[in-house]
Amino acid sequence: MEMVDAAALALDLAAGGVAGVTITWADNNGIPRSRTVPVASLPQVAQRGVGVSTLFAVFDTHDNITYAYEGLSTPAGDVRLVPDLRGFTRLSGQPALAWAPGRLVSVDGSPWAYDPRSVLEAQVQAAAAEGLQIKAGYEMEFVLTAGDADVGDIAQPQPAYRAPAYSPHALLAVDEFIGDLLTDLAANGVPVNQLHAEYGPAQVELSIVASDPITAADRQLLTRQTIHAAARTHGLRACFAPLFTAADVGNGWHVHTSVWRDGRNLLASSGAPTDRPSPEGAGWLGGLLRDLRALAAITAPSVPSLARLRPGYFSSAYQFWGVENREAPLRYVVGSELLGADHANVELKVSDASANPYLAMGALIAAGLAGLHDGVDPGEPIQADPGGWSERDRAARGVVRLPTTPAEQEEALTANKRLTAVLGDQLLGAFLAVRRSDAAWAADRSLDDIVAAHRWRY
Ligand code: GLU
Ligand code: MG
Repeated sequence: MEMVDAAALALDLAAGGVAGVTITWADNNGIPRSRTVPVASLPQVAQRGVGVSTLFAVFDTHDNITYAYEGLSTPAGDVRLVPDLRGFTRLSGQPALAWAPGRLVSVDGSPWAYDPRSVLEAQVQAAAAEGLQIKAGYEMEFVLTAGDADVGDIAQPQPAYRAPAYSPHALLAVDEFIGDLLTDLAANGVPVNQLHAEYGPAQVELSIVASDPITAADRQLLTRQTIHAAARTHGLRACFAPLFTAADVGNGWHVHTSVWRDGRNLLASSGAPTDRPSPEGAGWLGGLLRDLRALAAITAPSVPSLARLRPGYFSSAYQFWGVENREAPLRYVVGSELLGADHANVELKVSDASANPYLAMGALIAAGLAGLHDGVDPGEPIQADPGGWSERDRAARGVVRLPTTPAEQEEALTANKRLTAVLGDQLLGAFLAVRRSDAAWAADRSLDDIVAAHRWRY
């Protein structure tokens, strides 16, 4: 956006009672980080950004800075956080503030190797260069508690209500919050497909209308801000972590994607149970399946992410795909005459709030594009839960468990040159250092303590 636009915007905001603009990005733990600038400085900040430490790339989940990665091993260094004003919005739930997603650039204005948004931009451009467009949308699950829920590591906050899953009575307990949330999301430019009381105690799910991938990732951050603000207004607190408790169902942030050429959805199908997408659409699905183990290390990267991926929880645990199979990490959602071609997509369930949405989406697109290119055949769908099969039956169908430990996860990622190349050596080095720091922190702790420490981080 031109300087003059930012100046006009600043005047407009000031006249409308807005005092500051919060510029947000996400770190390698999926944790949003931000800087807030007074509106008067927006024209300057839109050009030059605000200074932030290079060390944000090596913050771990617990705000510890790891100096283990040699590329970012000293406290010296600064980069600029530049708002992308295309994603700018006033915040309906926080009337004195506006919001914009940020990119991190070097002080000379050149790209910074550790900027996650640039990683996604590069993949969107790679798709466009082949005449392909990607549509993406998030589903976000979260658990509501009382606003004064203990923030300590050990205490167990209670869910805000207990009621039948998917029941309107459940949402009645948080009626004013839900009403304001929908109003705020609409005002903030986040179109919602639907919202419901999910399976877990006081668990809510919100699904966002598909858009281009960068907008989808931006909206995932903006939606968190909007939910947190509405929850606070109503004396509630929202937990986005992969697990609220070790035992209950987790919070999945599933990503739906479809790939399009010349206005045609390559994943479209007629809706018949045996129907398959076009060869290119099948290649997209096959590519996601092929790279799933490495992809999961980016899309569900935290220690609680690994614990969330259990059979029988609709969160996925094994490497396979299915047609409308809720246990599959890759669920092919069919289109039909009723629903239209637009509807067909692939849902990735191995995804949660601890993923950086830009890196996750970038890696997902790279895997899908490569599959489309290589014409990867996803094979036959599996319509059951392989978690209930014997080890032998799983082996016979080639169904393997997704990584369950940080060590397996790192091995899966580093073995996959296609996805490590998406991050590049430097970002990969920082990302792995952060994962190792988290793993070391968790090594001697119980799952309950680990879950508690992650509960309010996102
Ligand atoms: N809560 C489940 C998860 O951890 C997802 C449930 C569903 O919407 O299918 O991903
Ligand atoms: Mg759900």
